[in-house]
Amino acid sequence: MSHSPRYYKTADGKKLVTLIPGDGTGPEIIDAVRQIVEASGAAVAWEERLAGAKVFQMGHPSGVLPETVESVKKTRVVLKGPLETPVGFGEKSANVTLRKLFETFANVRPVRELPGVRTPYTGRGIDLVVVRENIEDLYAAIEFMDTPGVAEALKLVTRKGCEKVTRLAFELARAEGRKSVACATKSNILKLTEGMLKRTFEEVAKEYPDIESWHIIVDNCAHQLVRRPEQFDVIVTTNMNGDILSDLTSALVGGLGFAPSANLGNDFAIFEAVHGSAPKYAGKNVINPSAVLLSATMMLRYIDEFDAATLIENALAKTLEDGIATRDVLGDEKGVKTTEFTKAIISNLGAHPSSWKPRSYKRIEIPPVDPRPDYVRATEVRIAGVDIFIESFKTPQEIGEKLQELAEGTGFELWMISSRGTQVYPPTGANLDMVDLWQCRFTAAGSDKQSLSDESISALIRAVSSEFEWVKIQKLLSIDGELGYTKAQGED
Ligand code: NAP
Repeated sequence: MSHSPRYYKTADGKKLVTLIPGDGTGPEIIDAVRQIVEASGAAVAWEERLAGAKVFQMGHPSGVLPETVESVKKTRVVLKGPLETPVGFGEKSANVTLRKLFETFANVRPVRELPGVRTPYTGRGIDLVVVRENIEDLYAAIEFMDTPGVAEALKLVTRKGCEKVTRLAFELARAEGRKSVACATKSNILKLTEGMLKRTFEEVAKEYPDIESWHIIVDNCAHQLVRRPEQFDVIVTTNMNGDILSDLTSALVGGLGFAPSANLGNDFAIFEAVHGSAPKYAGKNVINPSAVLLSATMMLRYIDEFDAATLIENALAKTLEDGIATRDVLGDEKGVKTTEFTKAIISNLGAHPSSWKPRSYKRIEIPPVDPRPDYVRATEVRIAGVDIFIESFKTPQEIGEKLQELAEGTGFELWMISSRGTQVYPPTGANLDMVDLWQCRFTAAGSDKQSLSDESISALIRAVSSEFEWVKIQKLLSIDGELGYTKAQGED
């Protein structure tokens, strides 16, 4: 479980960072940020590499050049501009390629009120961080067409993924002197997947008694974030929830121009703005570089350049406090050019704003995780049944009667049929609009619950497929006596 050092040092003692300028406004922003970081005196050296639109056009379907991958493997730290996925050149996003290639399992998105950036929340002291799981959930993007009219996406959540992201959230709270971590899930509906994050969070929280911890249903979290955002400190959540909540939180403090992020893993870290390439502003020298600059300050702290990070944050806050900002803050008339804004920040290095103070940070520890794939072990795993999803235009009654007949002698009996998660056979009185995909649940015939096996499932599939088109098969497990599946609406 040993991990490589966090960063690579050059012969003259500088910390090497892979710098990806990116697409659209990316190169202008990265140029500004590079100048400011260099002027801060941070011990940083850059290795500039390509990813994004140009790379897709060169014929690399991942959007990332092999030499870029090599550079990241060496430096283990990336600062990047936004990347585009041009239509018609492969279907994977270069951003997703980078995040998955380097297992950056947590996406950290802090938002904090800044002086001079007026919003409806000005004066409320918003200062919070959303920690979003970054690899799993619906973003594994495993999708299927079950029938011509029914699409499906797999929501994969692992105990390991949950543990990694919750531990990181607590460690982040400690490193930043924060008092509480809230876990936002939809565990009331998705008891196994979203529930896995809630359960893991509650266990991990016991190891951090110095940090207050609480669970909140994600829809209420969205509501509370708009009504009383100052009550939150750190929020940890699943990938999809985090995507939505963190865009909401960035709007609370002035929008995408001020929303930084870090993708953190055990061995690699990628720092970037939340925003995209804003192509309509490319080459116009009007874009706000603050989000990438704040991402760079996160990077500087990650590579132990704490003083430079504080120097830059103070200079940015002082510049904004002095009323100097780009057009997204002050409008077309009063907003200054990107290059002018950059110069102002550089000239303010060493200055202190009167109305804003940087937090004090300690080095964040990223807890190592057991690399074994069988991370969770059970004492007894038993087949409790099988769901066979079939495509059929018949009525539930016709399907049910036929399946009962077909299951005879296989060791299974038909337990129920559901349509989109609601039982329709045996009938419960539900008045549903039917589609052509049916979840047919089979359990052990008679009282011998131990008798089910892969062979009996094969026999059942052969019997069912003699009359029906099957779409997919899902084993139902009992894990240490607990149901490893959820019941349909209306199912006993
Ligand atoms: P976007 O580039 O974030 O821009 C949307 C709007 O947000 C802009 O038109 C502008 O609003 C505002 N904005 C964004 N960044 C700003 C900044 N630094 N300063 C001031 N205003 C800023 O989103 P998009 O237009 O949906 O995406 C464009 C491309 O970026 C797409 O190819 C997308 O795939 C890619 N993208 C990449 C990343 C990434 O690399 N991580 C993330 C998101 C999107 P106004 O029009 O109101 O001025």
